[in-house]
Amino acid sequence: MPVSDSHVEHPPAVDHQPLRVAIKNIGCKLNLYESEALRSGFSRAGFDMVGFEEEADVYVVNTCTVTGAGDADSRRAVRTARRTGEEAIVVATGCYAQRRPGELSDAGANLIVANGEKTQLVEAVQRRIQGSPDLNLNPMSPPKTEKFLQIDGMVEGGRTRGTLQIQDGCDEHCTYCIIPQVRGVSVSRPVQEILTQARAMVEAGYVELALTGVHTGSFGHDRHGTDSSPTELVDLLAQLEGVDGLRRIRLNSVEPNFVTDELIGFAAHSSHLCRHYHIPLQSGDDTVLRRMGRRYDRQHYADRIQRLADTVPGACIGADVMVGFPGETEAQFENTHELLDSLPMSYLHVFSYSLRQGTPAERLPDHAPRAVKSTRARRLIEWSQTRRLAFHRSHVGQQVEVLIEETRRSDGSGLAVGRTDNYVQVLIEDGGGVEDPRVQAHQLVNVKIREAREQFAFGSLSTPMTGTIPAVPLTGVETGSAEHPGEHAIGVHDDVQAVASS
Ligand code: SF4
Repeated sequence: MPVSDSHVEHPPAVDHQPLRVAIKNIGCKLNLYESEALRSGFSRAGFDMVGFEEEADVYVVNTCTVTGAGDADSRRAVRTARRTGEEAIVVATGCYAQRRPGELSDAGANLIVANGEKTQLVEAVQRRIQGSPDLNLNPMSPPKTEKFLQIDGMVEGGRTRGTLQIQDGCDEHCTYCIIPQVRGVSVSRPVQEILTQARAMVEAGYVELALTGVHTGSFGHDRHGTDSSPTELVDLLAQLEGVDGLRRIRLNSVEPNFVTDELIGFAAHSSHLCRHYHIPLQSGDDTVLRRMGRRYDRQHYADRIQRLADTVPGACIGADVMVGFPGETEAQFENTHELLDSLPMSYLHVFSYSLRQGTPAERLPDHAPRAVKSTRARRLIEWSQTRRLAFHRSHVGQQVEVLIEETRRSDGSGLAVGRTDNYVQVLIEDGGGVEDPRVQAHQLVNVKIREAREQFAFGSLSTPMTGTIPAVPLTGVETGSAEHPGEHAIGVHDDVQAVASS
């Protein structure tokens, strides 16, 4: 479907400068990176950022199709944009736009940009506004990342933890997952491009960068093949450690097969790598894992997790777990539960299987009723809550380093909030008024933990850390409810299922 197939035949009447753009992100952390990069691109082009509920000249919805909920949220956001800005350009991009462009056109989008063409999105919008001929974009073009979206510095109104894309696409083809169809094959970003962006982001004020992609652990494999590049990701991490001023590197999600001895060895001695590892499990039953097309068994998973925990003291280890995969029996679910019980996990993201048309799992028999999926999910969510509370409690009495993210909570309590490298969210009780110079966003501070609950640990300031930098305002890209914290997008959680923790 050509981009010129639009609902709005004329460019919007624009009688003011600068132009206003509102961006809504739906989906995973990779989408969030791309939304921040688009935000950065629109800023460079002279646009003003406004909230998604406000009147704007351009609305961009970065869509998600990982589940039915992602689809629904994406359609809803496009409809909202069209209602709020009747004459506006409403752009739909991202995975749902790649998969079902017509449904988003029907919802009110008048510019669809495929995943592989996102780097041209800002220019495509500018041309529309100027009334110039459209770029020759094709929403139906096969997804493959040729160029990566770039962030050159601090994203205006972005998040405190900078995100840095190192990879896109996936070659795994798990049987439930739609993502390889909408993101294409695995492509690694050139190392020099990553380092250049990292330096620019650090110079602009970020002290923590989270590396993101669809299948981050496979970084480098597309260039050198699976056998010859086990250390490619480790080499990149080592080079990033050399970026002046960068204090933390976060590696959000790595598939179990890619948690190599080299990576664990690096983690043991790294001065920068956050002790936070998200290693998707999906199921702890070997039969289910095989039917999911996952290329490891429960023994391998257990070995990797145990080795990581033994090697990196204080590590926060989380996992994605899917319940209700077609044919999953009660006994197979219990196998998952029992495996988790035996491992030093700190939290789970629990998803109910969500059927995605066009995946091999769609054709499998014995799709579980919603009630069964909900019951199993609830049990794991409760399990996760207990584990997270215990992990938080293990920090009581300790002094920890916290990166401040926000200096005022939305409830006006004046507390500052931040994260430790091992992903404990800390509320600082004796600082954080918006004018308090001791505790501002992007600062690293020492905090003594006094009390812990499941969502937060509470503490007080100790000695301020050195090397702090000025604060920037925090009004991030708006995110839709379908966002899930696992780094890559998996075809799993459904409309009723919440993630256990974030
Ligand atoms: S679940 Fe993850 S590893 Fe498997 S195909 Fe989807 S994106 Fe790739």
